[in-house]
Amino acid sequence: MGDCIVQLSEHVSNQIAAGEVVGRPASVVKELIENSVDAGATEITVVVVDAGRTLMQVVDNGKGMSEEDAQMCFKRHATSKINSADDLRSLVTMGFRGEALASISAVSYVELKTRETGAEMGTKVTLSGSDTGDSEPVACPKGTQFAIKNLFFNVPARRNFLKSDQVELRHIIDEVQRLAMAHPGLSFRLQSNGSDLLNLRPGTLRQRIVAIFGSKHDERLVPVDETTDVVKITGFVGKPSFARKSRGEQFLFVNGRFIKHPLMHKAILSAYDGVLSPRHFPFYTVFLEVDPNRLDVNIHPTKVEAKFEEDQAIFAILRSTVKRGLGKHNVAPSLDFDTELSISIAPLPSTKIVSAPQVSINPDYNPFKSTSRAASTSGLRKEPKPIEFGGTLEQELIETSTYEIPLEVLESTEAPKYFQILNRYIVASREGNLVMIDARRAHTRILFEQYLEDGKGFGDTTSQKLLFPEPMDLSQADTILLVEASDILSKNGLVLERVECGVEIVSVPTGVAGNIQDCIDSVLEVLRDGTWSDEEGRREKLAKVWAKSGAIPKTKKLSDEEMSAMIGRLFSCESPATDPWGRSVFATFDAQSIDDIFG
Ligand code: ADP
Ligand code: MG
Repeated sequence: MGDCIVQLSEHVSNQIAAGEVVGRPASVVKELIENSVDAGATEITVVVVDAGRTLMQVVDNGKGMSEEDAQMCFKRHATSKINSADDLRSLVTMGFRGEALASISAVSYVELKTRETGAEMGTKVTLSGSDTGDSEPVACPKGTQFAIKNLFFNVPARRNFLKSDQVELRHIIDEVQRLAMAHPGLSFRLQSNGSDLLNLRPGTLRQRIVAIFGSKHDERLVPVDETTDVVKITGFVGKPSFARKSRGEQFLFVNGRFIKHPLMHKAILSAYDGVLSPRHFPFYTVFLEVDPNRLDVNIHPTKVEAKFEEDQAIFAILRSTVKRGLGKHNVAPSLDFDTELSISIAPLPSTKIVSAPQVSINPDYNPFKSTSRAASTSGLRKEPKPIEFGGTLEQELIETSTYEIPLEVLESTEAPKYFQILNRYIVASREGNLVMIDARRAHTRILFEQYLEDGKGFGDTTSQKLLFPEPMDLSQADTILLVEASDILSKNGLVLERVECGVEIVSVPTGVAGNIQDCIDSVLEVLRDGTWSDEEGRREKLAKVWAKSGAIPKTKKLSDEEMSAMIGRLFSCESPATDPWGRSVFATFDAQSIDDIFG
């Protein structure tokens, strides 16, 4: 065998690097905007066509580039931002790897026009997936304009890997919104296929949040503010009563960068302990500032993660700052904050290991063992051994089955066939077995199959008109998402209308009741999750949303007629045993297991 090792050409290595830096159109938009911010721009305009597949253009009024820099900037590791590895640690600009433009230009057609402050003429550079660009003088405004065309034209596998326009556009909007929140003093504009999605004037953070998420956010924001030796915290958190069922309005920034940090997310959420409805997520836009030497961002070029040296201390400070913020606004119980307004915690030595406080519990304690009264009136001595179910329902049933059945219910079971306990479970006898049915889960199964059935063939889901159209509380971007999906949604029974200040719901699928905003939030989750273009998957997901919204609450007293209708319909379903999320709908106790109870 001869020599086999060759050095990859810069072009090939750029293409490989592009795989990391340029995941999707949104990552190009992010890199270009970050460069504009670094260049001191005060106005940044982003134009996309076909969710960035055809064109992405970022125009800024920053300091521009000289003719030489305009050519240099596409070279790998070409950067004006660091000189040595030492600079890396204390860096304050957004980008520093000098990789973005090299990577982007390796997988697209690029046109750059730029003019430096003070220069009479600008420079135009065009590249097409190659490492040498043509440059010529051009008349252009001061600042820089990048146009990226036909992304991934020379990497078809990556092009095919892109999701629907809807999803890719959503990612672009997310990136622009995050950068716009990190820099409320700059003006941002985002246009897609000729229409304005965002047009944000410079202002305060509060004004920026309101401009992005809608004027109703103004009264919902609670400021948070704390300066300690370890971290400076600023921003806003949402009042708990406005928390949403959908995730997506939680933003954490560290030293000006958006990051995802599960531990800090938990710190913020835990400040809401006891004041949040289950499975609801509060809004927050929180900025942390820490010494860059004690922070490791850019673990990976496109990942928005960070490692703090003092994460335990920051966790504690963040949690109490948010808690205090909520307390001050009388939305959460708080400690006596007036006497001690600031928390001063000295930075922990990085070698110190902090352990969580210990709570001692007795794992053998069983609250039901001591309920002798229940055992005596209902005749239950041992816990029944339930069969044919598992998971959380099992736990719930074990608990509920030792509860006392009220005497009046026992008496009234003589005549009616079914009765209900805890306003939740229907108790019935079926083929000689005792069956307990979770009424809400049964109802979701019935409605789910009914909506799926409605959707089959040509039929559109039937809908019912609301007496008064209901205005929705949505960000500009979510408004656009819903409006773009409105044809499909109306086939699925949800009719909406675009009005001046957003969207109003005109009709909902027949049977959908309760909180329409919650229902729309769930629809938005489906729209965001990337499977929208798959018709069958979409129908199923929407049917789940409608079923969830239409079903009776977890506890509700049912009439005899309702119980027998529920049971009749449940057992004519295709899959009565589970709800649409796979959880058990009923549990059966056969003669043997009942005999076992009595020994
Ligand atoms: P990095 O941002 O990590 O330095 P990039 O590849 O993103 O690497 O950019 C390379 C260089 O090109 C930057 O360091 C900067 O000098 C120059 N540059 C890029 N975009 C702009 C812009 N919009 N305005 C002025 N200079 C820019
Ligand atoms: Mg950059």
